[in-house]
Amino acid sequence: MIDLRSDTVTKPTEAMRQAAYDAEVGDDVYEEDPTIHQLEHKAAELLGKEDALFVTSGTQGNQIAVLTHCNRGDEAIMEANSHIFMYEAASVSALAGVQPRTLNGTRGAMDPSDVAAAIRPHDIHFPETGLICLENTHNRAGGALLPIENMKTIYQIASEHHIPIHLDGARLFNASISSGFPVQKYAELTDTVQVCLSKGLGAPVGSVIAGSEAFIARARKWRKRLGGGLRQAGVLAAPGLVALTDMVNRLAEDQKHAEILARELGKIDGVEIENEVETNIVLVNVKNLGYTSEQFLTMLKENDILAAPFGPHTVRFVTHYGISRMNINSVIEHVAAVPQTQ
Ligand SMILES: *Cc1c(COP(=O)(O)O)cnc(C)c1O
Repeated sequence: MIDLRSDTVTKPTEAMRQAAYDAEVGDDVYEEDPTIHQLEHKAAELLGKEDALFVTSGTQGNQIAVLTHCNRGDEAIMEANSHIFMYEAASVSALAGVQPRTLNGTRGAMDPSDVAAAIRPHDIHFPETGLICLENTHNRAGGALLPIENMKTIYQIASEHHIPIHLDGARLFNASISSGFPVQKYAELTDTVQVCLSKGLGAPVGSVIAGSEAFIARARKWRKRLGGGLRQAGVLAAPGLVALTDMVNRLAEDQKHAEILARELGKIDGVEIENEVETNIVLVNVKNLGYTSEQFLTMLKENDILAAPFGPHTVRFVTHYGISRMNINSVIEHVAAVPQTQ
């Protein structure tokens, strides 16, 4: 099976399995797990923040950030297609009691003047603007990079209003590999950041959130409230450390595979590439081939290829370390062989 549904399907490498086996562990609720300390220290250092916290998932990390930054009744500004708004089961409202204020972006980037206009003035009728959320790379925009200038301008606006910024950096390392900016350069334009260890970096479980010491202390309590206080979880943190040390630079290969896939699929009659491929995601529109995304995916599956539905006529391919150049060639051949019905 060539599984391009997501980079979450990656399985732990031999080195990760060995690291899990060898991990020194303790009770992390007592803050006594040395491997978790090591992971959190490494993540904080990479992201240029005072402290970091190992969390069970990207969703949990984002939600802990919302819960820690905001009070109930606050409003949080976020892009209309952001993961936090689209794919986290409305936890912003269900858990944090926060009202999302969504802004339509361009390739995932909100216009700074829209952000400025959405910040609430002080008035008895209005919620307080408690948080601004950004996403880099932007998933629904097809792994798009947020331009650093866009982040800078929004950061200036947020600072003037004393509003914190949380960056959903589930794929921030993909952004860094593509743009050449170290992850720290993105993180310094935010107050807090969440990065996934379990996507392209290949760890079996987990994310890290990073921020100031005071923020992480309060976030730790929210993690406990959410049931995310783990015990001898060094066995999970050890593969995460391997992810941060050994798996970052090879993301360039995933990007190259995505670029080849987009370039070659784009040459096929009836196939339209919807996104400018900047990282490891390719959005393919099959409408002019005469298929819905579900019909197209069924045909691919018969050829042992998996991709994800991403709209009525759009399918998403995500490259990752389980995908070889030969797999990419095979996908291109199979799509080229799909009969055009119109
Ligand atoms: C995958 C993803 C998340 C959530 O991560 P999980 O570990 O699946 O909860 C958050 N934000 C973005 C942009 C993602 O792509």
